[in-house]
Amino acid sequence: MKALVLDAGSISLQEVPPPDQTGECRIRVELAGICGTDLQLLDGYAGFRGIPGHEFVGVVESAPESERVWIGKRVVAEINIGCGRCDWCRRGVKEHCVSRTVVGIRGRGGAFAELVSVPAGNLHEIPDSIDDQAAVFVEPTAAACRILEQVPIDGQARVAVLGDGRLGLLIAQVITMAAADVTVFGRHDEKLEIGRKLGLTCHRGDSAIPDERRFDIVIDATGRPEGLMRAVELAQPRGIVIMKSTFHGEAPVASAPIVVNEVTLVGSRCGPFARAIELLSTGAVRVQPLVTRVTSLDDYQSAFADARHGLKVMFRIRGAEETNGR
Ligand SMILES: [Zn+2]
Ligand SMILES: [Zn+2]
Repeated sequence: MKALVLDAGSISLQEVPPPDQTGECRIRVELAGICGTDLQLLDGYAGFRGIPGHEFVGVVESAPESERVWIGKRVVAEINIGCGRCDWCRRGVKEHCVSRTVVGIRGRGGAFAELVSVPAGNLHEIPDSIDDQAAVFVEPTAAACRILEQVPIDGQARVAVLGDGRLGLLIAQVITMAAADVTVFGRHDEKLEIGRKLGLTCHRGDSAIPDERRFDIVIDATGRPEGLMRAVELAQPRGIVIMKSTFHGEAPVASAPIVVNEVTLVGSRCGPFARAIELLSTGAVRVQPLVTRVTSLDDYQSAFADARHGLKVMFRIRGAEETNGR
C-alpha cells in the first residue's frame, strides 16, 4: 500500500506492506487530517518513526470473527490502545496505560496510508449527518471536549483561548457552550476573521491586556513554547491555565506568578469521542470554515508546508483521483 513514512526526521511516500495486527480491524482510509502534533513529529517530537496520521475517517474492510459487524461501516477511531491488563486499562483509562501505543504517534502506524489497523474497541461509527471532512475533526473536537471533563466552567467564567489555529478555534467553540465570555487571542488576521465568522470574539494576541481584564480560565492552544508564559500572565489570581500545546522542546515559564497568584496548571490531552460526534452532528461545532485544503498523498510536501501556515489540511486517500465528496 501507499503510505507516508517518517524516518529520522524525513518523510517520504513509500510502498509498504499493509498492517496485519491480528485481532484488530483493518480500515481503508478515506480522508486524514494533518494536526499540529504531526508537524511536531516531523520536527522530532516523541522520536516517532513510522506512518504518522491520527485524525481520519475510513471504512472497515476486515475484522476478527467476533467483530464482523463492523465490516463496511464508516468509522473514526480513538487513538490510544492500552495493554488491557494494567490498573489504568482496568479503569478504562487507556490513554495513560504505560505500555500503550498511539495511532500514528507512538509504537504503531497511522492513517497517512491506504490502510490502518485499530482494535474494534476503539472504533466509533459515524452517522450520515457528519460528512467525511467533518468526521476528520472528531479526534481534535474530542480533545477540546476533554477540558469540560477536567475543569468546572460555569456560565459566568471569563475564558481566554490563546491561539487562533485549528485547535484553538475548535476549543473556543466547545467552551462557548459552557461560558458566555470567551475570547480568542491570535496572531493571524485571516484566522481571527474565520473565528469571527464562527461567531467567536477574537482579538490580536499582542494587544495589551489590563490587569482588571484578566481571565478565570486561560487555555494555551498556541502550539508554541511561549504560550504557557503568556497564559499564566493572563490568568487572574486563583485562575486556571489549561495546557493544550504539545511541542518538541521545553516551555520557558517564570514560576513566581504561578505561586503568588495561586494559578492552577492543568495538562489536557485526549477526550470523549461520543460527545464530539454529537457536537459535530448537531452543528454545535462548525468545522467547514477550518478546512484549508484537501489534497492527495503524493502532494505531501506542499500539504505539510500549507498546514504550518493554514488551518486544517487533509489527504483524500481513497478516491483521490476522483472528484471531491464521498
Ligand atoms: Zn492531533
Ligand atoms: Zn494498560
